[in-house]
Amino acid sequence: MQALMSIKKYAHEHDIPIMKEEGVSFVCEYIKKHNIKRILEIGSAIGYSAIRFARVSNDIFITTIEIDKERYLQAVQNIKDFGLENRISIYLQDALLFETTEKFDLIFIDAAKAQYIRFFEKYKTNLLDGGVILSDNLSFHGMVEDENLKCNKNTIMLVKKIRKYITFLRENTEFETEFIKCADGISISKKRNSE
Ligand code: SAH
Ligand code: MG
Repeated sequence: MQALMSIKKYAHEHDIPIMKEEGVSFVCEYIKKHNIKRILEIGSAIGYSAIRFARVSNDIFITTIEIDKERYLQAVQNIKDFGLENRISIYLQDALLFETTEKFDLIFIDAAKAQYIRFFEKYKTNLLDGGVILSDNLSFHGMVEDENLKCNKNTIMLVKKIRKYITFLRENTEFETEFIKCADGISISKKRNSE
């Protein structure tokens, strides 16, 4: 679709890390297969993934949070262009400060990698029974698995944070996590007693 293409083009030109086709298709399939209706997304960027998720079915409702004003404004426009403003609620805020009592079937974490543990701990109480937390970019372009990482200091710090998050998920007694190798690495965490 033309409008989706132009969002992708904008993201590319402005260096905005929106999900690649493989990852977004995986999540859309997951949403369809598990009949997900209420989604919380941490990290909207310009609204691309939220729009893709919303288009899976017209009874899906999404709450999405973005910290960057320029991206938020662009997302608001994109959501409007798709006529999805009634099904996607977007907030301009730091997701660590956002407050909601709403419960969701799926929480999608796709924001600052260094904060993943904090996002997870904060939002796990917003899951409906049987709900899941998906996290994106756990492979970080293959760098997370690379033992001889050669790159700048900031990237190394980030990769270490992601490794720490993976350990946190592996050792979590409350949630059981499956690691999917597809795209840039996606994890699916389910509450252990929810099945
Ligand atoms: N999900 C989007 C891409 C998100 S990119 C898509 O695939 O279309 C990650 C976004 O998270 C960035 O736009 C960044 O500004 C935002 N972000 C980073 N830290 C955040 C925070 N603490 N709260 C909310 N958004 C945050
Ligand atoms: Mg991502």
